[in-house]
Amino acid sequence: MKSDNFEKVLPEGYELKLHIDAKNKKTAIFYMILSLLPLVVIVAAACLIIEFAGSGLSSLDSFYCTIALFAAVVAMIAYVILHELVHGITYKALTGGKLTFGLRWNVAFCGVPDIYVYRKAAKLAVLMPFLVFNVVFVALTVGMYFVNECAFLAAAFVFGMHLGGCMGDLHVTYMLDHKFKDSKTLMRDTGPEQFFYVYTGIEKAETEK
Ligand SMILES: [Zn+2]
Repeated sequence: MKSDNFEKVLPEGYELKLHIDAKNKKTAIFYMILSLLPLVVIVAAACLIIEFAGSGLSSLDSFYCTIALFAAVVAMIAYVILHELVHGITYKALTGGKLTFGLRWNVAFCGVPDIYVYRKAAKLAVLMPFLVFNVVFVALTVGMYFVNECAFLAAAFVFGMHLGGCMGDLHVTYMLDHKFKDSKTLMRDTGPEQFFYVYTGIEKAETEK
């Protein structure tokens, strides 16, 4: 069952078609700019809700908002760890492969560097934190609205950071969905880097290690 989802060595007839590297400066900056978009939209939406449907931004209690800000920072740190754990748990469940975790200035990551994962399983592992934490943060943000407006704003901020932080995962998912539709496509995920291999049937496998 698990072995249906991956290959231990790259089979004959595969060719490396794409390499995404989050360690690359241009890619890192691209993801960073892209990640600001959902953050700005969600926080702006929360501000508008407070201003026009709530008690107004000017009436926010600075004491509560400072506490909420600290809570948001702690939640963010916990979130980064949990996000990577969800990738790891999904990869482990689907492949049983040896996981790798890491942290760089611009990216936290989890991968299964020693194996080649088939498209469907790869997509699930890459997208899982986005799906799980959308549910968590929508529930949290809506819930906080009824608790305290500072907490609501803080929750919206963490929600936006989550969406922004998923841009790399969404980019990989987009590639698997639109550019690599063949179910035979294999992806090697080292964490910060993804290698996409397409089956060409030509018996001259390029063994990228
Ligand atoms: Zn991720």
